[in-house]
Amino acid sequence: MEHVPLHSKTIEFLSKRPQMLIGAGWIDAASGATMVVRNPATGERLLDVPSADHVDVDRAVQAARRAFDDSAWSRTRPRERQNLLWRLADLIERDAQVIAELECLNNGKSAQMARLVDVQLSVDSLRYMAGWATKLSGTTVDPSLPLMAGGEFHAFIRREAVGVVGAIVAWNFPFMLACWKLGPALATGCSLVLKPADETPLSALKLAELVLEAGYPAGVFNVVTGTGLQAGAALTRHPGVDKLTFTGSTEVGKQVGKVAMDNMTRVTLELGGKSPTIVLADADLQEATAGAANAIFFNQGQVCCAGSRLYVQRKHFDRVVGGIVDIANGMRLGSGLDPSADIGPLISAKQQDRVYNYIETGRELGATIACGGEKQGPGYFVQPTVIVDVDQKHRLVQEEIFGPVLVAMPFDDIDEAVRLANDNPYGLGASIWSNDMSAVHRMIPRIKSGSVWVNCHTALDPVLPFGGYKLSGVGREMGAAAIDHYTELKTVMIKL
Ligand code: NAD
Repeated sequence: MEHVPLHSKTIEFLSKRPQMLIGAGWIDAASGATMVVRNPATGERLLDVPSADHVDVDRAVQAARRAFDDSAWSRTRPRERQNLLWRLADLIERDAQVIAELECLNNGKSAQMARLVDVQLSVDSLRYMAGWATKLSGTTVDPSLPLMAGGEFHAFIRREAVGVVGAIVAWNFPFMLACWKLGPALATGCSLVLKPADETPLSALKLAELVLEAGYPAGVFNVVTGTGLQAGAALTRHPGVDKLTFTGSTEVGKQVGKVAMDNMTRVTLELGGKSPTIVLADADLQEATAGAANAIFFNQGQVCCAGSRLYVQRKHFDRVVGGIVDIANGMRLGSGLDPSADIGPLISAKQQDRVYNYIETGRELGATIACGGEKQGPGYFVQPTVIVDVDQKHRLVQEEIFGPVLVAMPFDDIDEAVRLANDNPYGLGASIWSNDMSAVHRMIPRIKSGSVWVNCHTALDPVLPFGGYKLSGVGREMGAAAIDHYTELKTVMIKL
C-alpha cells in the first residue's frame, strides 16, 4: 500500500501534547483527565487529548462571555471582523495539506478528498461569511403608534450579535462543521466555545492555533475537548451560553433542544438523514448510476445527507442497481493516506458494529445483499454494500445507518416515487435524476426535504442554506439564513 509521506507540520503537530484553548491559554483539563484519540484505519492510539468536564466548560464560557461583553472584540468594527475572517481563511489555505492529513488520520477519510472537499468548503464558507460582517443591517420604520403618547416618534430595528455561542459538532466532517459555525459567529461579532466530537478533536485544535495566529483577541474562540456526556452536556445546560448550534444525531439533538429551552437558549439543530435518490426512466442512466453510487459511498456513507435510499423507475431498476454493484465491487478498501484506496474505514469499532448489525438484520429478514456486506480489519472497515428485496417499512429503509450501505427499491410512477421518498421521518436532502424538467419541477415542491438536487447529490455552496425538514433539524446553516440564527433583533422607539 503506497502512503503519501506526512507533511512535516503534521508530524510536528502529532508530536506535541495537545491542550485545549481557553481564553488566552493552552491548558489541560482541570481534573487532569485525558481521553484516547485513535486512527480508524488501524485502530491504534494516535495521542491523548484533555477530557473536559463542567469546570473546564465553565471556564471556557466565562472566557467567551468576557470577550463578548468587555474586551476589544465587542468594539471591533465590521471591516476588522471581515478582514480577520479572510486572514483565517488564508491561513487555513496555507495549511490545507496539514489539516487534510489530520482529518484523514483522525477520521479515516481520504486525505485527498479532505483537502478538495472539507478544507476547500471551509475556506469558501469563511470567505462568504466574512462578507456578511459589513452587510448586517437593520431597518427604519415610520410608526403609527403608540396611540396615547402623542407627539412624534422615530423607530428603528437593530440587528445585533446574539452573544456567546456554544457549538457542538459531529465527527464526520470535523473541521468543516466547526468552520460552518465559526464563520457566522465571528462575522456577526459573537464569541464561541466549540466542543468537537469525542472521536475527532485534532482538527479543532489545529483550527484554534490558526485563530490565534490570525489575531483574534483572547476568549473569542475557545475549544473544549471531551465527551458528549460530560463536556457536551455541560455546554448545553450552561446559562452563560446565549445560542447553541448542534450538529449530530437526532437522538442527542432532541435532548440538546429540550435542555436549551430551560434557559431559553437560542438553538439550531443539524441532525440525521435518510435521503432518497430518485432515478426517473428518462434519466441519463450512466450519470445517474455513477451519481447514486457516489451519493452513498462518498465519505464511507458517513454523510448526513447521503443518498442512502435509492428508488429507480422499474424498467431500469436492474440496470442501475447492477451498475452500482459493479462500482462497489471495484472499490478498494484502504487507508485514507493511500491515494489508490476508494473506501476508508468507518470512524470507530462502535460504528463498524452498528453498520454491520444493520446488514445482519437485513439478512435475517430475507433481504438480498447484492454486494459487500462484510466487515474487514485491522481498522474499522465495512465493504460498500447494496441491499435489494427490502420493504419500505423495514428498519433498513426507515433508519439512518450512517455507513456505506444502500437500500434500493423500484417504483412505477412519479406519484409513487414522491410517496416513497416522503415516507420517512427524516427530511434533509433528496436528489432527482431526470432530464424531463416539467416532471422534475412538479416533483420539487412535493418533496419534504431541506435540499433537492437535480442530476447531482450533496451539491453544497456556502451561499445556499442547508438544513432539514422533519427530524433532520431546526434552522439552517450557510447562506443569509445562517446570519439570522446568530443575531437578535432589537426594536428602538424614540419620542422626539
Ligand atoms: P452524536 O449525536 O452522537 O454526537 C454529536 C456531538 O454531540 C458530539 O460532539 C458528541 O460529543 C455530542 N454529544 C453527545 N451526547 C451529548 C449530550 N448528551 N449533550 C450534548 N452533547 C452531546 O452524533 P455523531 O454520531 O457524532 O454524528 C453522526 C450524526 O450526525 C448522524 O446522525 C448525522 O446524520 C449527523 N450529522 C448531521 C449533519 C447535518 O448538517 N444535518 C452533518 C453531519 C452529521
